[in-house]
Amino acid sequence: MISSPDPLDDDFPLGDGTADTEAEGTCPYCGEGVTIALDPGSGAAQEYVEDCQVCCRPWTVRANYDGDGAATVEVEANDEVGGEE
Ligand SMILES: [Zn+2]
Repeated sequence: MISSPDPLDDDFPLGDGTADTEAEGTCPYCGEGVTIALDPGSGAAQEYVEDCQVCCRPWTVRANYDGDGAATVEVEANDEVGGEE
């Protein structure tokens, strides 16, 4: 019971106040450091589109929570929006 190898327990308590509600990231377009607001209640693995607060370009944000409620966030350039060839 000391070290569980299962990081994605369905019952881990996101949204009870222990999970991260924001994370630091870097915009892939303008390179500015930004704070990304997170919604722990939306699940342990999330992917959504958010606009940069600095240059207003769309990111694809991927947020993953571990069993302790610590968020790992990746920010990628969202080149598919409005770009057909
Ligand atoms: Zn930016």
